[in-house]
Amino acid sequence: MKISRRQLLKTVSFSALVVGLAPRVAFSAPNALRSVRTGAQPGGKTRFVIETANRPSYTLSYGDKQLVVNLSNTNGRSDIIPKLASGTMIKRITQIQDGTTLKISAALSGAIDAIEKNQIMILEPNGDNDYRLVLDFASGTGRGIANTATTTGATTAKATKTESKPATTNKTQRIIVIDAGHGGKDPGCIGKGGTQEKTVVLSVAKKLKNKLEANGYKTYLTRSTDVYLKLGERAEFAEKKHADLFISLHANANPSRDMKGFSIYTLSEKASDEEAQKLADSENAADKIDVDGFEQFSKDIRVALSSLQQRAVAELSEEYANGCAKSMNRASIEQQRGPSVRHAPFAVLRSTVPGALIELGHLSNKSEEKLLKSDAHQNKLVDAIAKSVNSYDFDV
Ligand SMILES: [Zn+2]
Repeated sequence: MKISRRQLLKTVSFSALVVGLAPRVAFSAPNALRSVRTGAQPGGKTRFVIETANRPSYTLSYGDKQLVVNLSNTNGRSDIIPKLASGTMIKRITQIQDGTTLKISAALSGAIDAIEKNQIMILEPNGDNDYRLVLDFASGTGRGIANTATTTGATTAKATKTESKPATTNKTQRIIVIDAGHGGKDPGCIGKGGTQEKTVVLSVAKKLKNKLEANGYKTYLTRSTDVYLKLGERAEFAEKKHADLFISLHANANPSRDMKGFSIYTLSEKASDEEAQKLADSENAADKIDVDGFEQFSKDIRVALSSLQQRAVAELSEEYANGCAKSMNRASIEQQRGPSVRHAPFAVLRSTVPGALIELGHLSNKSEEKLLKSDAHQNKLVDAIAKSVNSYDFDV
């Protein structure tokens, strides 16, 4: 079993707590501040970068027109002058040493909302830089952030979190965009019994929408009828809705009629295996005729997406996809041979919204075609996917 860095950290601090010790980080040598800088990002965003000698362990707190980054076990340095770029929301930055915690307080020109998880990154050292904590934000309403609201960094406090929490307890209602693949003139793949992919996935998408709404999420369907949508339009729809998660539903066909089971994909420009590449080619093929529209959109998005954001989106997508695979396994839904999560250049996933493409099963397999058509099996799939959304950690 592959254990992610985050899971590993969670395990380490959890076991430390269990034996009554302070989290691991308290024993390590103090971290040291290296530099503080700001920058203007596309879309009126402000970037706030804090560079430290070791991997930072942090929490965020918010005040009136104020953002405070609390770095635990870190020493400040009064001779570090923050480099403030013009055109950002940060007017002034102050260091406050509070015991072993270094508080870096940014005075802002206006209110902001709690910073989204996918807008926070910790970068590994490279070349001239040490570890960097990077926060991106734009002006907001200031709602949903009490003075005490905190966002916790990856290295601490995860241990006390429960695995899954209903969305209704969240301060912010999370937005999920569900994409039923294909539609209209594009039927997707067709089973031996005549079942069309576009019909099955629309039915599952509608059921999933109902389930997620009942769980307190705000959801949108890219299509709710039998219409054709370009892949770029689907991705763009998720952007416009400011979705927190994008789930694209598909069903498979394979020349080998014995092949069955679900598989889950995240975006990567390089496919994880030949089979994944073939699948991406066939899923992307529907758009060959309308490729111009997509090229235009994807170019715009690529400009807006820094490599940093691309990495953040990729990490979050991977996290969701792994959780979804686990949830499907737990529900005893048959998995396709090989890895449960693969990567391929799916056009529909090219956006700033983390997400995954789920191939629900194989219409080319006689028994699975029957299952995929049945309400009972569709509900089983929906339950498993809804659980994976509940257990996905939307907050840092
Ligand atoms: Zn498909």
